Amino acid sequence: MPELSELVGSRRLILVSNREPYEHVRTGGTLEVRRPPGGLVSALDPLMRRTNGVWVAWGSGNADRDVADRTGHVAVPPEDPSYTLRRVWLDESEVEGYYQGFANSALWPLCHMFAQHFEPRTEDWERYRAVNERFAEAVAEEARGTPDPLIWVQDYHLALVSATVRALVPGAVIHQFWHIPFPPPDIFQLMPLGMGVALLRGMLGNDLLEFQTERAARNFLACVDELIPDARIDLERQQVISEGRTTTVAAFPISIDVAHYESLAVEEGATKLAATLRDRYTKRGRQLAVSVDRVDYTKGILERLRALDLMWSRHRELRECLVFLIVATPSRSALAVYKELEDQVAEQVEQINARYRTKGWTPIVLIPENVSADRLAAIYRAADLCLVSSLQDGMNLVAKEFVACQVDERGLLLLSRFAGAAEEIEGATLINPFNIDGLAEGLKSALAVPLAERRARMSRMRSDLHNATIFDWLESILTAANQLRPRQSPSVRSIRV
Ligand code: UDP
Repeated sequence: MPELSELVGSRRLILVSNREPYEHVRTGGTLEVRRPPGGLVSALDPLMRRTNGVWVAWGSGNADRDVADRTGHVAVPPEDPSYTLRRVWLDESEVEGYYQGFANSALWPLCHMFAQHFEPRTEDWERYRAVNERFAEAVAEEARGTPDPLIWVQDYHLALVSATVRALVPGAVIHQFWHIPFPPPDIFQLMPLGMGVALLRGMLGNDLLEFQTERAARNFLACVDELIPDARIDLERQQVISEGRTTTVAAFPISIDVAHYESLAVEEGATKLAATLRDRYTKRGRQLAVSVDRVDYTKGILERLRALDLMWSRHRELRECLVFLIVATPSRSALAVYKELEDQVAEQVEQINARYRTKGWTPIVLIPENVSADRLAAIYRAADLCLVSSLQDGMNLVAKEFVACQVDERGLLLLSRFAGAAEEIEGATLINPFNIDGLAEGLKSALAVPLAERRARMSRMRSDLHNATIFDWLESILTAANQLRPRQSPSVRSIRV
């Protein structure tokens, strides 16, 4: 694959996301630089380092202002600066309305088709609009002094940014990656009409709009077809022509840094921890199953617990055969629906354990905290089975991390057919988490799959994953974005002169 720096050519990359790659935090008297967890930042940071671009993001750290200049600029990485972070300042009420409000209480549930959690408040929408405008102005300021900017917007927090930037910097190439699902029109139209139309028009400000799956791309086109009367849709090319401009819509499934996860899994510490976990939980031929999620209603955690309960109540012989380790990391706890779910998960686990526990066996081990990537790698490595039971999920990186860390190739992957990863990973056992009965029986059958078959399936998944890493994803997106408006080569220019 080409060098990262070749992927943007001579263009200057301006990346825009809600989260920043480096956060300055003061605790007591000490100033600390934190790197938010998550694969995306770790994949995009090397790209930015090698292309010397600008990253525009919300300055969320309590000491962020102390280290930035008057316009919010700070050189990063702090230990060896090679690109610029441009921070956008938001006050508490803006964070509440834009982030917790419209992004996480309206767009997130609607895109995941959870109408029951959808709360489109006008006040939140106004904040979302204002904050998106602020981001767009910061991007435009960075782009204006640049001859050939390539602007890459991330995710659903910033749906209105591209159209505003387009109006401010007409010549820029702008594209956006949408990390979460996109719903079909019947669901999208639950959005108050004015907001829905503004969101679609905002997204049509892009030259290229990238989704995780073909299904999401098709849903977006169908929503545009229903709600934007002047838009013409070319289904074959997956393009929208509106207001004299073309937006290409395509699927680019995201991935992980496979080599990095694999190396985490074979490190000495992880190898020891994996052995300890197997020692502790796989006595007397028991199997160890794992799941790893943020506590979110989209992840099907309660459905998973109901299926386990049903399986153990129906099949007495399976008691003591399986220990289920559930990493359930608190997330968005400021929102009541998330806090309630955390409590429900803890309560259900307690009840199931009380019902089936025996002297030497606790059925479910709950880890209700954030677990670091190196410890997760050991957990993935140690497992005989990983269950991803998302009711709806853009991609689900946990599924890919599990495959990357299964260096001993003993594990089965049970994967929800409603996760984007299901459209890509061949070799997983697909499940429907809404069908509790079916899931209980599916778990029972999974326990009986012979080791040789597990190895064959895992080996195939691992080799496929090596051919579709986060760097392949970056390459395909940046290549597509670069082709949107090919630059004249210097030789062509000199002939003209
Ligand atoms: N994760 C983590 N520690 C935890 C739980 C999750 O680092 O305790 C990471 C996990 O390794 C994965 C990400 O959080 O990289 C979750 O991504 P995914 O696509 O599965 O779901 P999302 O949370 O983005 O909806």
